[in-house]
Amino acid sequence: MLLAAHADVVGVEREKWSLDPFAGTVRDGFIYGRGAIDFKGGLAVFTQAVVELARNHIPLHRDVILLSEADEESGRYNTSWLADSHWDLIDCEFALNEGGWIIADQSGKLQYVSVSTADKFSIPLTLTAKGTSTHSSMPLPDNPIFTLSKALTRLADYETPLEIIPNTREFLETLAKTSAPPLPAEIEALLNSKDPKQVQQADRDVSSNPLLHALIRNTIAPVILKAGFRGNVIPSSAEATVNLRLIPGTDFEALLTNIRRVVGDDRVDVSLASSSTPEGTRARELLTLSSRLTPSSKDTPLYRALEQSAHSLWPNTPVTTYLFQAGTDAMAWRKRGVPVYGIYPYPITADDLRRMHGNDERVSIRSLDQGTELIYKTLVEVEAQ
Ligand SMILES: [Zn+2]
Repeated sequence: MLLAAHADVVGVEREKWSLDPFAGTVRDGFIYGRGAIDFKGGLAVFTQAVVELARNHIPLHRDVILLSEADEESGRYNTSWLADSHWDLIDCEFALNEGGWIIADQSGKLQYVSVSTADKFSIPLTLTAKGTSTHSSMPLPDNPIFTLSKALTRLADYETPLEIIPNTREFLETLAKTSAPPLPAEIEALLNSKDPKQVQQADRDVSSNPLLHALIRNTIAPVILKAGFRGNVIPSSAEATVNLRLIPGTDFEALLTNIRRVVGDDRVDVSLASSSTPEGTRARELLTLSSRLTPSSKDTPLYRALEQSAHSLWPNTPVTTYLFQAGTDAMAWRKRGVPVYGIYPYPITADDLRRMHGNDERVSIRSLDQGTELIYKTLVEVEAQ
């Protein structure tokens, strides 16, 4: 089995930190530093669990591969490069990676343990509006900047349909059981109501949380606009990059048709980002592989061991599958058919979670200890099989 953790981190706004982001300062039971949560903390937990496995001479029935990777946040020597160049060293039956959360409240009581079994994936679309290039003193009705703006406005008012895959359903059911009102009733209506109006209202209620909104549908977000080059020229084209985040199993062609219908203007071309860009090439590759990106089975020794270890550590805390709302570097293993399970292996509060990629990122030392126990128990359990 493979334990994969990235050692690189995102940058910092140093002046906004109350301590040195790269010193690993311990204060009030927390270790502070960039990467404490994402994902040096996880790398530390995975490493310590493997060290204990060796120290305690646990007999191994399969290889345990510990991988500390570079370039997850950005850069070229990432897991895709690694898997392309050194697959013989990391070919595995299943893998553990970053992903789901062990959510705790302020008092330290756990709400749930979520293990991601799939990641959403990112596809860039390009919207290009064409018009006549001319002097801006005599505007024509086909100004491409207006055309594109109207198309984007129609997209802004559009909401993609609900798409709740089984592992999201399991997650929402767990959330309903472990949350304060009114969320449980809203989730119940969303998942089980037969009345379309009630489902629509429940969708609006649940979707007021941006994370939940992203879990139950494909999302559409304009991210880059390009148009014009000087103050007295109407340009002949205007272009927007729109980032789609797709649930594995999505019928991409149907979604594209829908987006074109919403845009509803044949002066606006809607297509995948050009295949001459790295993003465009990657998007095409992902779409051809999309059947491989569907959720990893729960029916593996690794998932069962994780579930069992979590239950033995925290008997009253439910364990659930989870669709990770963003992409992770697990894609390199997933697309080779390896089941991957994602977890940030430490109990964490919503407040601390907001510090990830933010300021004063931290993880509690007690959580690191508990996480190490979770992963160690999991390894021992997997190795016994
Ligand atoms: Zn990460």
